[in-house]
Amino acid sequence: MQFDMISIGGGFSGLISACRAAELGLKVAVLEQDSSDRYPCSSRFTTGVSNIMGLAIMADPDHLYNAIIKGSGGAADPALARVFADNGKRAIAWLSEKGTRFIERALQKDQPGQRVLAPPRRLQAGLDWEGRGGDVTMRKLTEHILARGGTLLRGVKVTSLIVENGAIAGVEATRDGAPTRITAKAVVIADGGFAANRDMIAKYITPRADRVLCRVGPGAKGDGIAMAEHAGVAIGGFGKFYGHIHHINAMTIAKLWPYPHLDAIAERSILVDGAGKRFADEGLGGVCMANDIAALEDPLSSHLIIDDEMWRIEPKLTTTVAANPSMVNAGGPLITAGDLASLAGKIGVPAASLEDTVRVHNAAIASGDYSASPTPRSVHKYPPMPIAKGPFHAVPLCAGITGTMGGVVIDIHAQAQKQSGGAFPGLYAVGTPVAGLEGGPRAGYVGGLSKAFILGLLAAEHIAAAR
Ligand SMILES: Cc1cc2nc3c(=O)[nH]c(=O)nc-3n(C[C@H](O)[C@H](O)[C@H](O)COP(=O)(O)OP(=O)(O)OC[C@H]3O[C@@H](n4cnc5c(N)ncnc54)[C@H](O)[C@@H]3O)c2cc1C
Repeated sequence: MQFDMISIGGGFSGLISACRAAELGLKVAVLEQDSSDRYPCSSRFTTGVSNIMGLAIMADPDHLYNAIIKGSGGAADPALARVFADNGKRAIAWLSEKGTRFIERALQKDQPGQRVLAPPRRLQAGLDWEGRGGDVTMRKLTEHILARGGTLLRGVKVTSLIVENGAIAGVEATRDGAPTRITAKAVVIADGGFAANRDMIAKYITPRADRVLCRVGPGAKGDGIAMAEHAGVAIGGFGKFYGHIHHINAMTIAKLWPYPHLDAIAERSILVDGAGKRFADEGLGGVCMANDIAALEDPLSSHLIIDDEMWRIEPKLTTTVAANPSMVNAGGPLITAGDLASLAGKIGVPAASLEDTVRVHNAAIASGDYSASPTPRSVHKYPPMPIAKGPFHAVPLCAGITGTMGGVVIDIHAQAQKQSGGAFPGLYAVGTPVAGLEGGPRAGYVGGLSKAFILGLLAAEHIAAAR
């Protein structure tokens, strides 16, 4: 089997790279390890909100560029950030041209809204992908690839890269279990990162990898990063992840993930550790809090603390699936007590400590002075609410990893860089397993879909131009 270009992985990153390359006249193949017709992957499970650093992908490119640099705390490569910000609108236009449907979700008055893949997810607990935007768009892209003479091979798991004379020459793979060799002048790593690989999570995120939730499909094993590193490619940008906060029972009850998550209510309240103390800046948002939970010595030791009034208004705070009542209905109960000392007893933290933490929180809201707590509290984006009146509730938490950050170091064409410096001829990486766009101290998340949409196009166009 010989191709001009191969994508490793059949999610959006792999499909878009292959579709664009086929459109530019290349003979392409998408190699997907899963053999089922509707193989599970993040692209199929996605909620479909296309954004760049939380902003609408259609926003002014300079604004997006500044957001990437700021949000990543300087971790982003400025040249890559620039090309990324400049190509968001074009990626949406290209996808629309291919028949992808988006609905627009308003963010702020006078600002462009977020483009959400249509039809959008129904707002219900658990996985909900069939016939939704991700699923429909994947099938549409596949049709385009096949219509242009391209190939989608399911049940083909890539195991290593073939390198000849310092350049990519193809891949080794297993096809329905049997070894096979597929040659190509260019290979695009599009395997969705390593959220389902506990060894890599232990190496790059938390040693307690068994105590965080895998909030994606089973295929994200980090194969692409491992095989690239083995071939001499530079990797980096690890440490943080994109994810959300869940009820601890999501570790065992499938209906509790990917929705509902608890980000919206946690952003207004407090998280406490096993000592009853705050440990996260809740005002920085759910992704940052999920990282702080995962970084605890025991990532399954924290609780969200709220009062009954907050629980009642939770459905108004969230833009996705309300935890009240879907979390409880799906098997994630609240722990409730009439006063804070009793609540502390129920969750196993020192009563005096929890009472003091809540007192400091409420006093800071009343005075506007947040300096009394050793853990900082940002208040501008998500103004905190007092935990005022019983009954009080606690929710035991876990951190759900949706997308890993870090991976193959790439240039502005999504071309992999060698450990020894310079571009690796014929090798590209797109979507989740790349470095250079996100991370930093606040876990700035550039957007899983935008990484697939934009980098997929850039890689294909560079491969076609180099032919
Ligand atoms: C529940 C959920 C909601 C989300 N919501 C949003 C959202 O609203 N907005 C947003 O921007 N992002 C969102 N994301 C993230 C976004 O969907 C992903 O970042 C994006 O779809 C990743 O696409 P991908 O092609 O890189 O990876 P994937 O879609 O994961 O595809 C990778 C594919 O590679 C295959 N593969 C892996 N290893 C091999 C191998 N060795 N050989 C062959 N094939 C292999 C896998 O089986 C898989 O099919 C969400 C993710 C989830 C799970």
